[in-house]
Amino acid sequence: MTTFKDLGLSEHVLSTLASLGFETPTPIQAEAIPLVMEGHDLIGLAQTGTGKTAAFGLPMIEKMMADGKRPDPRNIRALVLAPTHELVNQIAANLKDFVKKTPIKIGLVVGGASINKQSEQLSRGVDILVATPGRLLDLIARKAVTLTQARYLVLDEADQMLDLGFIHDLRKISKLVPKNRQTLLFSATMPKAIADLSAEYLSNPKRVEVSPPGKAADKVEQFVHFVQGASQKTEILKKTLTENPDGRAMVFSRTKHGAEKLMKHLEHVGFSVASIHGNKSQGQRERALKAFRDGATRVLVATDVAARGIDIPGVTHVYNYDLPEVPDAYVHRIGRTACAGHDGIAIAFCAPDEIRLLRDIERLMKIDIAVASGEIPADRARPKGARGGNGALQRFAAGRQRSCRTSSASPGRQRQRSPRRTLGSEPVCR
Ligand code: AMP
Repeated sequence: MTTFKDLGLSEHVLSTLASLGFETPTPIQAEAIPLVMEGHDLIGLAQTGTGKTAAFGLPMIEKMMADGKRPDPRNIRALVLAPTHELVNQIAANLKDFVKKTPIKIGLVVGGASINKQSEQLSRGVDILVATPGRLLDLIARKAVTLTQARYLVLDEADQMLDLGFIHDLRKISKLVPKNRQTLLFSATMPKAIADLSAEYLSNPKRVEVSPPGKAADKVEQFVHFVQGASQKTEILKKTLTENPDGRAMVFSRTKHGAEKLMKHLEHVGFSVASIHGNKSQGQRERALKAFRDGATRVLVATDVAARGIDIPGVTHVYNYDLPEVPDAYVHRIGRTACAGHDGIAIAFCAPDEIRLLRDIERLMKIDIAVASGEIPADRARPKGARGGNGALQRFAAGRQRSCRTSSASPGRQRQRSPRRTLGSEPVCR
């Protein structure tokens, strides 16, 4: 098995990793670290939770330590771009852990916080700046920072940056970082726009893929409840939350309004719950995340944009209260659980007007999601010869099933493994 030592990291970084409890490299780290150390541009196809921050951060820090330079005032040596405040905070926090006991300084700039404080921070120069694109461009326009000394450019969650309309900002910023740089692009998916972006801004990149797009962490057990509408979703959600008092749950809603309404209802009926979405201020979002991380609240209702890339250890359940319009988003959502080797449970609700979305998800993931309750709609797509008859009621009653395998999935379609825990209305298997 590859060790961190095999990857060519210095004693200094090795001792930091040991103090952080990082014993062995994750697959993306084992593959990417040597390539980055050798100076290659890199495309990393990996989701959050795979350890990608260390995969780009550690070799970058090693190389910056080795060249021993210091940034001039209002300059940076490396730029990491990420789509959301939360992700920027998370990356910066990880990098700060890695540079303990080194002179390397990590800076952080995001919208919604004081631009003057950020200018002041940059006035002394920072080694690695983690930023959202819009605020960085504002700071560049104010001449608070220039990118001419940057030798590393990392685009993290590139597909999400594209989804959020940052493409023009990314192009502008990429042109401001000198050409003799190393560029590392990480993305959970590789739509054509990302492939085009890579072709334009990366030079002979190596490609590392640890979790193919559409394939959720193997450790996530997935279920779907077929329901008639929102009130039934809420009832099942409350029942399952109640039956898992020690769980920590993220609940995804399609809209900000829906997230807020659901959060208020859950709060009203006595759950300890918080929400994060685009209508919340930066401070509110940070407080909600902190409370959820600390365990003060155990249910977090979120929209995709607010929750993308957030790594919160110990999430046991992910609920797709609404199915996402884009099937990739489902993969990101369920990736919030089953991180760092833990098992996780993903529970989706599918109302009649969401069947098409479920079909897209199952097609992308090449699986049949096990049915936890409800009547399977006649038009649920399944390959010829696969389980269930039209309109068949496929109900797994808690405690009654010994095997939870859905009946014969066609060759090539991955089956869900048997669940092992009590899931409220989900099946229980032994
Ligand atoms: P990331 O995908 O970079 O957000 O990392 C997900 C989580 O895994 C973070 O909390 C990291 O601190 C943790 N992590 C990353 N690499 C390792 C490793 N090799 N061993 C243990 N934990 C790790």
